[in-house]
Amino acid sequence: MNLEIYKQLKHETESGQAQLIAVSKTKPAEDILQLYNNGQRLFGENKVQEMVDKYEVLPKDIKWHMIGHLQSNKVKYIAPFVSMIHSVDSLKLLQEINKQAVKNNRIIDCLLQIYIASEETKFGLSEEEAKTILACDDYKTMTHVRICGLMGIASNTNNYSIVASEFQKLQSIFLKFKNDFFSSCEYFKELSMGMSSDYKIALQHKATLIRIGSSIFGHR
Ligand SMILES: *Cc1c(COP(=O)(O)O)cnc(C)c1O
Repeated sequence: MNLEIYKQLKHETESGQAQLIAVSKTKPAEDILQLYNNGQRLFGENKVQEMVDKYEVLPKDIKWHMIGHLQSNKVKYIAPFVSMIHSVDSLKLLQEINKQAVKNNRIIDCLLQIYIASEETKFGLSEEEAKTILACDDYKTMTHVRICGLMGIASNTNNYSIVASEFQKLQSIFLKFKNDFFSSCEYFKELSMGMSSDYKIALQHKATLIRIGSSIFGHR
């Protein structure tokens, strides 16, 4: 755990009009509590069971962000408390989130995960697939999900111009969607991009949510 780096990152993201999500996956609850005691409230996890276990033992005002690939059959475990789901990558998943949100009498904030990297292993929707979801009748009937923006993961490379062009692309899709689908809606405003290695580039492209793990908590 590096609190000096944490404070520096917190300052940097907030002066860039973004919020810092501390990605605590694989790290113990004690580490999360230490950061919580330094004021952090937004935490990101990528596994359902791990998020549930931590939710149960940690303070209830923590805002839990699901950032990892989510299977539809596991939505029910996090639906009672999750603050935002960044990794919506299918209509089927969105339908299940809506269904579980109804059961829990909640509205669940979601981001559409857009595929921007050149590597083939990354999850996410193409721009066209995301558009198809936003334009479909099924989506229009979903009363208990709010799509608050987009999420993306850049290629894992030190090449500045590759990463910058991927974030640029996500930012331009975000602006297009805002105009075409959400023009009269104030909650479509989140652009979740940037991790330990590339958050500075993400901030340059108007990220609003930065997801940082290893710089704060140390290597996994
Ligand atoms: C693990 C993870 C992060 C944080 O990565 P670091 O390199 O440790 O900062 C961010 N986003 C997603 C989707 C992740 O899975």
